[in-house]
Amino acid sequence: MAALDVRGLVAGYGPVQALRDVSLEVPEGTVVAVLGGNGAGKSTLLRAISRTLVFHRGAMTGGSVLLDGRPVHRLSAAGMVAAGVVQVPEGRQVFARMTVADNLRAGALGARGGRRAAAESLARVHELFPVLAGRARQRAGLLSGGEQQMLALGRALMARPRLLLLDEPSLGLAPLMSARIAEAVEEINAAGTSVLLVEQNAALALRLASRAYVLEVGEVTLSGTASALAASDEVRRRYLGVVDEDAAADTAGAAVGRPVLRRWSA
Ligand code: ATP
Repeated sequence: MAALDVRGLVAGYGPVQALRDVSLEVPEGTVVAVLGGNGAGKSTLLRAISRTLVFHRGAMTGGSVLLDGRPVHRLSAAGMVAAGVVQVPEGRQVFARMTVADNLRAGALGARGGRRAAAESLARVHELFPVLAGRARQRAGLLSGGEQQMLALGRALMARPRLLLLDEPSLGLAPLMSARIAEAVEEINAAGTSVLLVEQNAALALRLASRAYVLEVGEVTLSGTASALAASDEVRRRYLGVVDEDAAADTAGAAVGRPVLRRWSA
């Protein structure tokens, strides 16, 4: 059974319909990616699952979200965290004026297991991101972008998620830092947490995920194993930036006047 099963999801913001009939599954223990350009509806999808659309004046108006086969789309956002589904929103939203330690402590609020579990989680987060232990007393706003992304991830882990929803974790990060974050996601997944990852960086997402979906203007247009999608012309052209060499040669030819050469040589 899939850990997460989204069926026929419809969601939007007032008159704006951002998602139409979106269905996807995250099998237990896997990393699943959702690719798509700006405005495709990726953040809306994660917000609908985490029940946080209401904070953005949005609403889910159709479909269902099942966790282990149990409908969860009527829970509150806090209820969803208690059920083990935790979102790391886009843009590294840490509490800038609070210390790193307090940010992590805040992540444990509402988590199951009490103080002992929180201490265990903290040890795990520090093991994963040693820099957060070193900077525990610093204000989070002073961390670099990459360190803030680590803190955002660490804070989510403090809630002991069984399913992590990641919104563009590599956004705005230098390649080396993106790679470090990707490595951390792999380690988190290897320790048993399922991951639904939304990314514009398709190369990174397809490396991490076993399956992926392509979302375009609120609808799933392609889905399959990550390797099948990475090999598909559509994904290569639109999301991996691989140029179709024949088409490129034709365009370049036209640009430098190859049609004229053709006429002359005919
Ligand atoms: P990006 O990669 O640019 O963040 P996205 O794929 O995450 O894009 P969403 O942010 O989910 O896309 O946006 C989907 C649609 O919903 C867009 O048309 C967007 O303008 C609209 N939208 C998003 N948030 C709101 C909001 N708070 N109020 C009104 N419309 C919104």
